Amino acid sequence: MKVKGIGIDINDNRVNGDIDALKAELDYLQDCGFDTIELTTSGLFFILNGKLNWKQTRSICKVLSKYKFNYTLHLPDVLNLGNSPNPDIEKEIFSSCIAFGAEAGAEVLVYHSGQVFYELHSQQKREDCLNRETDALAKLAEKSEKFGILLTIENLNPEPEELKYITEKGLSKEDIRLLHPAMYLDPIAEQVEQIDAPNLGMTLDPGHLNLAIEVTGEQLLASIEKQAHLVKHLHLNDNFGRNPNPRYSRMEELLYGMADCHLPPGRVQCLSLKS
Ligand SMILES: [Zn+2]
Repeated sequence: MKVKGIGIDINDNRVNGDIDALKAELDYLQDCGFDTIELTTSGLFFILNGKLNWKQTRSICKVLSKYKFNYTLHLPDVLNLGNSPNPDIEKEIFSSCIAFGAEAGAEVLVYHSGQVFYELHSQQKREDCLNRETDALAKLAEKSEKFGILLTIENLNPEPEELKYITEKGLSKEDIRLLHPAMYLDPIAEQVEQIDAPNLGMTLDPGHLNLAIEVTGEQLLASIEKQAHLVKHLHLNDNFGRNPNPRYSRMEELLYGMADCHLPPGRVQCLSLKS
């Protein structure tokens, strides 16, 4: 894989929709030596009720254009094109993100896989959701291709309420695979291959995978090796491969080496950088 740039995401709490704070953030990250910035929808407030807020978009883009960074954009974590009570607003937000990405010159968009089906107990309902997501992604990939934007689907780690569900229901490994395919690379790869769009690929987050395998029992490196050819974007950060427990506060999680704690890559070496 040819590395195009090394970047970091903006900090949502520091920026919080404030243009001056965005400038300060970008100045700081420029001094740090990064060449790529991952923008976030949650830190910039350019969408309101699904629609692009053009005034905010123009103010943001005016700032972005002053730097030499390459830009990528992380879509909202909760965005789900398949399993949502309101699929229309999900598609509308995604389209607004493409429009923003085109305006900002973002080359890559990162979408969290929507293959999370805990409340769907019939195979038919799960398939319907998956098909809805696949159809929407195919159309959105076509739309973003016009702007030269690459769409990527990211693998997930289990959220605390999902871990609670898994434990309380005593789910088997087979149940987990059916109810939470987004924790595995294979189902995402299958979807990417099915859509077969030139500008669609995977974002690999080895940190997410390192936490997922505690639950799924998969092999980290073997899973990655199998699907590496589809990976177009990487979220590199480290953790101890220990999922959180609701008994512990955020700070206590760190004491116990739990959760998606986003340590610098190589701090724990959940994935040896050489491999
Ligand atoms: Zn992500």
